[in-house]
Amino acid sequence: MLTLNTPLVELHHHALPRIGQTTAFKLAVEIANITAKPDARQATVEDLLHYLPMRYEDRSNLANTSMLQDGQTASMEVMVRVGGIVPLKGGRIKMYEFIGTDGIGQVRAFWWNQIYLNKVFNRGARVILYGQWKWNRYKNYFEVENPEYEMLQDEDDDIESSAIHTARRVPVYRKLGDFRTRQLRSIFHHVLANLSEEVEDPLPEEIVARNVLMPRGEALRLIHFPGDDASIDAYTEARSAAHRRLIFEEFFWLAMALGVRRGERQTEPKGELIEINDRVREAVRAILPFSPTNAQKRTLKEIVDDMTSERPMNRLLQGDVGSGKTIVGVQAMVIAVENGYQTAMMAPTEILAEQHARNIKRIIAAADAPYRAELLTGSLKAKEKRAIQSAIAEGDVDIVVGTHAVIQEAVQFKKLGLAVIDEQHRFGVLQRAAIRKMGLNPDVLVMTATPIPRSLAMTVYGDLEVSVIDELPPGRTPIRTFVRGEDRRDKIYDFIREQIKIGRQAYVVLPIIEESEKLDLRNATEMYQTLQLEVFPEFKVSLLHGRMKPEEKEAVMKEFIANHSQILVATTVIEVGVDVPNSSVMLIEHAERFGLSQLHQLRGRVGRGAAESYCILLAQYQKTEVSRERLKIMEETTDGFKIAEKDLEIRGPGEVMGTRQSGIPAFRVANIVRDQQLLQQARKEAEFMLNERRMTRETDRLISYVRSLPRFGLARIG
Ligand code: ADP
Ligand code: MG
Repeated sequence: MLTLNTPLVELHHHALPRIGQTTAFKLAVEIANITAKPDARQATVEDLLHYLPMRYEDRSNLANTSMLQDGQTASMEVMVRVGGIVPLKGGRIKMYEFIGTDGIGQVRAFWWNQIYLNKVFNRGARVILYGQWKWNRYKNYFEVENPEYEMLQDEDDDIESSAIHTARRVPVYRKLGDFRTRQLRSIFHHVLANLSEEVEDPLPEEIVARNVLMPRGEALRLIHFPGDDASIDAYTEARSAAHRRLIFEEFFWLAMALGVRRGERQTEPKGELIEINDRVREAVRAILPFSPTNAQKRTLKEIVDDMTSERPMNRLLQGDVGSGKTIVGVQAMVIAVENGYQTAMMAPTEILAEQHARNIKRIIAAADAPYRAELLTGSLKAKEKRAIQSAIAEGDVDIVVGTHAVIQEAVQFKKLGLAVIDEQHRFGVLQRAAIRKMGLNPDVLVMTATPIPRSLAMTVYGDLEVSVIDELPPGRTPIRTFVRGEDRRDKIYDFIREQIKIGRQAYVVLPIIEESEKLDLRNATEMYQTLQLEVFPEFKVSLLHGRMKPEEKEAVMKEFIANHSQILVATTVIEVGVDVPNSSVMLIEHAERFGLSQLHQLRGRVGRGAAESYCILLAQYQKTEVSRERLKIMEETTDGFKIAEKDLEIRGPGEVMGTRQSGIPAFRVANIVRDQQLLQQARKEAEFMLNERRMTRETDRLISYVRSLPRFGLARIG
């Protein structure tokens, strides 16, 4: 008997049809991969069963040739008469076909390139075929291309009980490595047939009852093979009872895990306390190059309250692009430094790290402050890098700026007190444990311009406190946005020319393109050449893309910042953080290819100075309804939160946040947008369990269960 905990690498010990050692191992590797388990041996039957069908098909009604309509998709039982391989195009392509009968009329089935089928379908064999049947009016029979098939063993084989792929409601899976839907379906079928009846259910009974949830084992079975009375639509739209049960559970454990993590933070003191006295206050004031907005003051105060408390800070600073998050982070760093700590500022890209380092050094110099700041990136020479690293280890560097990777990999701090992480959404799950390794138990401030809708924020950052800068620095004129078609290109160029003549600069941004699409799309290099040589020969145009060496990028940015070049053609590498206040035009090519939040980020590269700024969204080719509607939102609002909500509605969270890198835990069944209501329900129950004093025993059991789930990383270290 299999249990949910059976390792997939042992599947072949269970005598399941066609699952040998190799298959078991390959399956384990694939499942370990998608569940982010480091070792294939850790992948279990439970993990496998959470690989859900992407849709379902109703193949339950057997058709026959007398009732079949032309073009109808159906299952039919057929007996093979004659079959063979047909070479086509001089033998380069092969086709296997057979002619058979359903007992009433003749049919033909054919498959491309699957010549092994010649050995599968013997004369007289009975088979169920599922596919789209087309009437061939020259031959006068129905034929079907690449149908799903299922052999029936012998005369008294009962279709009802033996069929896996046909004559029932069947799951359709996404390809998993080399495993295609058909093989997966039969693996799932055999695994479920051998799964112990007693599937443990870790949810408390009262919660199961209160939320009218199906037992876990039943849900896992039905979600793969829905019953004959089930609504296929409910399954495909993930609102069947089986789905509800598994979605609820997924949210429930997440909510428990976040609750446990929050609780842990509250009991875990940091190193030495941070103090605010007159000297520190004066240092923070002295560093400011401008007077802060009220929102900046308020959020700094929230940060200071965290820093001076006994618990390590774990705060998210949210603020729209250009709202001035950097200086707030720098002020927090000054406070830590004045208290004798080192600090780190981590950015997702080298360009951004360099920009931060440049700004911070400038601010320090202008205030004549006695701090040492160093930039640490992958492109430093080995010798320089070592020198800086040892200065950091000695405690001689107060402020370390670098990319996330570089800082985490190679730096031993003497006394790290605060880590500021810029544009967190690029980093993936905030790995507190990793940051903790760098220092004592430092304060962590995460800054993001991604206006994460509240609905998501609670899930993604459920264990972070949130501060919001909801006000832009004074003197900004709102950016004016226009959606335009290709026919206006020349006018747009004229407009850019005018802007440059009055002293401004412009960005031209292109999407990163796949090799296969090159034909249709303008790529950055070609665009750069055209603009420089043909359109704007009187100006200097420069080019920035992701494949350039870091020092080349740096040189290009410097040139643009100094207004030695007036137009910067770039791929989306400039999306986050780049700050050149003199630029007033953002032209986005193929705007229809970008997500709204990304367009919003890009648009935020202009409108950073006092000059009126413009964002032009050039939409090429099929301006479909959806993309037109989406782009119109950009014309209508500059409110990042509104845009994010819309984006979420249109594209779903995986797309918006880029699941892998987003920090959203990869849900196996649930979808945070679609399943809002279940999320609320599950969170309420988790809070109830965690708060309820009288239920301590059960709560303890739940907490140790959730700790045992590797995906939350809650296992106690040591
Ligand atoms: P973001 O929140 O997008 O990271 P930045 O911190 O880069 O924004 O700030 C955007 C621009 O606004 C920078 O040029 C910065 O110097 C400027 N800035 C920030 N705060 C103020 C302020 N209170 N007054 C004037 N300019 C400010
Ligand atoms: Mg920024």
